[in-house]
Amino acid sequence: MGILGPVGALLARIYRRASGGGRSRVFSGVRGLSSITYPELKVCIIGSGPAGFYTAQHLLKYHELAVVDIYEKLPVPFGLVRFGVAPDHPEVKNVINAFTQTAHHDRCSFYGNVTVGKDVSIEELKQAYHALILTYGAEANRTLGIPGENLLGVYSARTFVGWYNGLPENRNLDPELSSETAVILGHGNVALDVARILLSPIDLLKKTDIAAHALEAIAASKVKRVLLVGRRGPLQVAFTIKELREMINLPDTHPLLHPSDFEGLKQIVKDLPRPRKRLSELMIKAALEKSPAKEAERQAAASKEWGLQFLRSPLEVIPSNDGKRVAGIRLSVNKLEGLGESAKSVQTEDIEDLECGLVLSSIGYKSHPIDPSVPFDEQQGIIPNNLGRVLHAPGLYCSGWVKRGPTGVIVTTMHDGFETAESVLEDVRLGLLDVSASKGGYKAVEVLLKQRGIRPVSFSGWEKINGVEVANGEEAGKPREKLLDVQEMIEVANQ
Ligand code: FAD
Repeated sequence: MGILGPVGALLARIYRRASGGGRSRVFSGVRGLSSITYPELKVCIIGSGPAGFYTAQHLLKYHELAVVDIYEKLPVPFGLVRFGVAPDHPEVKNVINAFTQTAHHDRCSFYGNVTVGKDVSIEELKQAYHALILTYGAEANRTLGIPGENLLGVYSARTFVGWYNGLPENRNLDPELSSETAVILGHGNVALDVARILLSPIDLLKKTDIAAHALEAIAASKVKRVLLVGRRGPLQVAFTIKELREMINLPDTHPLLHPSDFEGLKQIVKDLPRPRKRLSELMIKAALEKSPAKEAERQAAASKEWGLQFLRSPLEVIPSNDGKRVAGIRLSVNKLEGLGESAKSVQTEDIEDLECGLVLSSIGYKSHPIDPSVPFDEQQGIIPNNLGRVLHAPGLYCSGWVKRGPTGVIVTTMHDGFETAESVLEDVRLGLLDVSASKGGYKAVEVLLKQRGIRPVSFSGWEKINGVEVANGEEAGKPREKLLDVQEMIEVANQ
């Protein structure tokens, strides 16, 4: 029945049929409930990734008079579903179908090419809407904070992923792929995505929506060996079983797993929670239970290899003789203190150097403040909130990675979006969100954007971009060939 409750829902339905529109609607003539006002709820969502779309979906479903406008800084929607999810995982991108349905809802609008905090301020949006929901994700990098981090050949995984996924700001990265060994710092799913893309047979990548420049560069890449370095042990890795299995089964590659890293773990994993147990068992099987004959055969046949290095932390990126580019990475050898997921890594005095020409740091994403008027917890890199209600800021809400930090998959973000939408609806119900005044919504914002020379891209504008991308992809036998230039996107959208 939803948040309105049975009587509310009935009233809203009755009135929707009887009324032509208007800001607030008066129900009359229903026995015992002679005059109830259901005010329109104007909501502005900032960011069109999963958090934005799932929050919108829930609000539209459970508040029959909610009008939701989604603002997005890029001309194209869907956030990390378009620019993060690996090109060889098309099934994950199916959520776009549900988001498209939401965008087509008659009370939902999309305004791309509008950067909130720059093109329009939070204060201005507050004047135009009853509620603002910040869902702008986590776009900054966590830095390594070690010498040599700025050498040529060191990139954040965020930038590298943006490059192969056609994110306009990363399209000119032109990463250094001319050496045989790449080191990825991190043991999460993004690290495995990057390793897989670096090592995948080009014939597999060709059929994905990977950016053409990345396909060309990876086809010419000399990288043959990818080492994934983590500061803790096999029982603390952050990647999941599906991604590990894909690596183990990656054609033309051979896994480098040192049996000594896994000895004695079999006994321990028996008592671990099921997902961690299954993941650990798969690693142990790949490292210890392989048939030597088959392994030798696979190794001989494979032209590339990848490995997991445990209990190592980066100390310094070692420069080449000319001091310009990466020649290797210096690692401290760690030991573990404590047990299980909360075990801590402690550096020992031992040091190890790894020769490599490419270093990708996959140590996490970070949110940043977009407007000084919004509270921000710099330490945790999130907007401080209670179930999505921004603390000490009535009318402001948040959801997704900017609410809880950059962890979790799309489904986690979906639940998070629903939770925030529930908070908004509860505040409306309890009278905690002021919906008494009429708000101008997009009409009020449009005036400001016009004055500032901003041309927003509508959802139908995005659909034109989509059409061009799909058509360009068809020529190349790919699901799409993404447009990379923001100006070109805007031109196509406005044709
Ligand atoms: P985002 O998806 O980042 O969306 C934020 C949106 O806000 C973006 O569109 C951004 O352009 C916009 N924005 C930013 N600033 C502004 C501003 N000032 N004004 C207006 N708009 C703004 N999950 C899975 O389930 N499966 C996977 O395979 C998977 N792969 C992943 C791969 C990578 C590399 C990464 C990083 C994540 C992956 N995830 C995956 C996780 C998933 O992408 C996240 O859970 C989800 O995208 C978080 O949603 P969000 O809406 O909070 O942030």
